[in-house]
Amino acid sequence: MTRELGDGTLAVGAGRPPAKKYAPPLPGPAFAAHYHLPGEPVGPYTYGRDTNPTWTLLEAAIGELEGGAEVVSFSSGMAAIAAVLLSQVRSGDVVVLPDDCYQTTRALKERLESYGAVIRMAPTAGNAQMELLDGARLVWVETPSNPNLDVCDIARLVEAAHEAGALVAVDNTLATPLGQRPLDLGADFSVASDTKALTGHGDLLLGHVATRDEALAESVRLWRKTVGAIPGPMEAWLAHRSLATLELRLDRQDANAMALAEALKERPEVVGLRYPGLPDDPSHEIAAKQMRRFGCVVSFVLPDEAFAERFLGAMRLVNQATSFGSVHSSAERRGRWGGDAVEPGFVRFSVGVENAQDIVGDVLAAVDEASAEVRKVGEDL
Ligand SMILES: *Cc1c(COP(=O)(O)O)cnc(C)c1O
Repeated sequence: MTRELGDGTLAVGAGRPPAKKYAPPLPGPAFAAHYHLPGEPVGPYTYGRDTNPTWTLLEAAIGELEGGAEVVSFSSGMAAIAAVLLSQVRSGDVVVLPDDCYQTTRALKERLESYGAVIRMAPTAGNAQMELLDGARLVWVETPSNPNLDVCDIARLVEAAHEAGALVAVDNTLATPLGQRPLDLGADFSVASDTKALTGHGDLLLGHVATRDEALAESVRLWRKTVGAIPGPMEAWLAHRSLATLELRLDRQDANAMALAEALKERPEVVGLRYPGLPDDPSHEIAAKQMRRFGCVVSFVLPDEAFAERFLGAMRLVNQATSFGSVHSSAERRGRWGGDAVEPGFVRFSVGVENAQDIVGDVLAAVDEASAEVRKVGEDL
């Protein structure tokens, strides 16, 4: 049978061991610091910092979702990102980073420079990183970018980077492998925070690195062993359990995000609305070419900080929280953290799996409430 499985079928079955009489369909978490190991100390299971059977199944599952890849899982998205950058880059190497990517990734700039690497930065939009490839060793791409939702053309950047002799790593957190497959587009690494949409319940931190190059996989695996940034077996098991519903969650979140974006478009209080799924969004053309789903994040700008705070406080179904990708809708005023180039009224909204009419209704009522308060304050003056 060579017919490709649908995404739902793929997600439900990913990484499950072959059926065996009396065995559980997905074995529970293996809590083990070490394994019985007489004689020659060879694997597959030796010591808990090197390997764990629960990781083995999760890594196989994510590898299937990535379209066939070696996967190394980590204790967080940042552990996975740092593993690629710090295992591949040597003193004197040139690294090209996006200047609008996840802010903790950008914080690795100083670390890399302190080790003697040279960092060049350009925005995600307009494939601007392509201008900086001369002599580069590694290009880091984040598309769609968090939180501004700009996109770049992965296949084009990969072609130019490979010509220049550079490796390409893509932070695929927002899209997940069912939204976008960087390895199919030629990237050397697909890296993600699985804290977000991949696991989708907001109850764990995890990350992974996927690659089709055995030597690169080995160097990342060795990095994990030597720094010890390993996932806990409980988190790995919860993550694997969550993958079965990945397609269901993403399809609902995408549809809800689209409904929300379309409703917000009609509101005069809302400017700078971004959602790559909107046909007139600046990201749409490239996003539609390389993405199979547009993700659950919608961003927009409200008139000012006070308006945005009133709006966030007025919603009843939407939690005020950072992070994104959960089944529960959440939103935050991104500027409260500092560090991102965003307006004071910039809101990053993560759309969950609630019913669209409820979420859209709650959001529009909160915009009304914030507007009414602003008018009232105006009248009182
Ligand atoms: C959250 C996030 C990270 C960091 O992941 P953690 O699991 O929090 O360490 C990296 N990249 C992007 C795009 C993110 O959204």
